[in-house]
Amino acid sequence: MGTLRLVLADQLSARLDIRTRADKETDVFLMAEVAEEASYVRHHVKKIAFLFSAMRHYAEALQQAGYRVRYVRFEDPENTHSLKGEIERARTELNLSEVQVTEPGEWRLKQVLASMDEVTLLEDNRFLCSPQWFSRWAEGRKQLRMEYFYREMRRAHGILMDDGKPCGGEWNYDAENRAPPRDGLVIPRRLSFRKDAITREVLDLVARAFPDNPGQLEPFHFAVTRSQALKELDHFVAHILPQFGTWQDAMLGREPYMYHSLLSAYINAGLLYPLEVCQAAERAYREDGAPLNAVEGFIRQVLGWREYVRGLYWHSMPDYGAMNALDAHEDLPWFYWSGDTQMNCVRTAVAHTLEHAYSHHIQRLMITGNFALLAGIDPKQVHEWYLAVYADAYEWVELPNTLGMALHADGGIMASKPYAASGAYINRMSDYCKDCHYRFDVPVGEKACPFNALYWDFMARHEERFRKNPRLSYVYANWARMGDERQMALRLQAQAHLQAMREGRL
Ligand SMILES: Cc1cc2nc3c(=O)[nH]c(=O)nc-3n(C[C@H](O)[C@H](O)[C@H](O)COP(=O)(O)OP(=O)(O)OC[C@H]3O[C@@H](n4cnc5c(N)ncnc54)[C@H](O)[C@@H]3O)c2cc1C
Ligand code: SF4
Repeated sequence: MGTLRLVLADQLSARLDIRTRADKETDVFLMAEVAEEASYVRHHVKKIAFLFSAMRHYAEALQQAGYRVRYVRFEDPENTHSLKGEIERARTELNLSEVQVTEPGEWRLKQVLASMDEVTLLEDNRFLCSPQWFSRWAEGRKQLRMEYFYREMRRAHGILMDDGKPCGGEWNYDAENRAPPRDGLVIPRRLSFRKDAITREVLDLVARAFPDNPGQLEPFHFAVTRSQALKELDHFVAHILPQFGTWQDAMLGREPYMYHSLLSAYINAGLLYPLEVCQAAERAYREDGAPLNAVEGFIRQVLGWREYVRGLYWHSMPDYGAMNALDAHEDLPWFYWSGDTQMNCVRTAVAHTLEHAYSHHIQRLMITGNFALLAGIDPKQVHEWYLAVYADAYEWVELPNTLGMALHADGGIMASKPYAASGAYINRMSDYCKDCHYRFDVPVGEKACPFNALYWDFMARHEERFRKNPRLSYVYANWARMGDERQMALRLQAQAHLQAMREGRL
């Protein structure tokens, strides 16, 4: 008797046990495009197209390798549009009772699958840290700081290590990776993959089936196979990685990608493996002279942050998803979906998002995330927005980044202080402010940058919680020096910004 092997949209990896253990004679792979998964948030159309196209290519590669595949297309009339329904239908029609699936990346789906009879969950061995290892590491620690986790990971996997010591003598070169942008930066062109018949068919389907979802479907130039994703990795390592570090935090309106890798969607979907990505970066340092601040900075994101947020997610769910430590209850303003705001920084970040299903980390953290933090937007609504609009978004990685890093809604489990910043920071790190309706250096009045008064209002609202934080003592010293009148003016201005936000005038 064979086994039904369910492959989810983000499990397109040949090295998973679900694939390596398969028997070509008796087992059948099941892959299904179901509305339940495609619609539980309003996913960006490019995200749906990327995943459906990558799934169809993966299924084709499985068949070419001699495996039996049952592929359920979105518009198949018999499609039940739920994974549970498709498992049951396949079981009955193929007369297979045993089902195996790699652990999903989402707590919700794991509960559904684990509750089904004769369904075995296999470990997702693409990650470099298992949930069990993370929980052991976390046990007894008051704070789960990424930096210490990252050092353990470097040691455990021997990445960027020389004789048991970190390459170059330091674990972290972040201080060299905060340069503001300067005129004349030349950012290499990105690869653009030709659309084949499968991708064209999927693009037609998505345009037909998801007419009201956010985002632009075209131009579409994602990699949709492993060999294309490997080309993207090679291109990044050879031409872009050397500059990654220095300009990691910089933002330019005309450059949605800066020197970022664009690899997250491919790693998360399984077209690339995190270890091979780290090893490729390390080779660039050891063999091709790529600067250590760039290589270490990049590896810290993949080996450190990416593994850390996944560990934190499984360690803390389901309670983590409901956290709202700062008691934030404003509705998400409509401009997150439309980009219709006079704040040029937010408008630009949303425009990049809608066009590419991508924006880089600093836009996510210090523009859209920072605004939501300062304005006190309900974390659940912010979480659903991030989960919907990015091609790389799955709950295991998106939720801790949104709730923990951007919104401090976990009360500081992840970050020792909130990532809150005023207009001065955004002006220093971007070219957005020069084309803005508002003035970054004006705190109060008609042209006042909303990030200024909202920043001070946020600090004042949460003074009790943050005043004793040594990393924020200078902030509260400045606030106290302002005196009552100025404090009151800033707080009234913040209320005016919030009212304008609620009325769609910001
Ligand atoms: C509010 C918010 C939401 C986010 N949502 C997601 C998400 O849904 N999916 C997602 O993959 N990342 C998310 N991130 C993390 C990060 O912004 C993206 O991984 C990154 O922007 C992807 O672009 P890139 O591949 O060009 O990354 P690069 O800047 O080139 O970084 C290299 C790689 O490191 C990894 N990485 C970097 N930062 C993080 C991080 N904080 N957490 C996990 N992995 C990281 C990614 O795999 C990325 O491809 C979020 C960050 C914030 C602040
Ligand atoms: S002035 Fe303020 S709102 Fe405008 S781009 Fe700068 S930071 Fe953003």
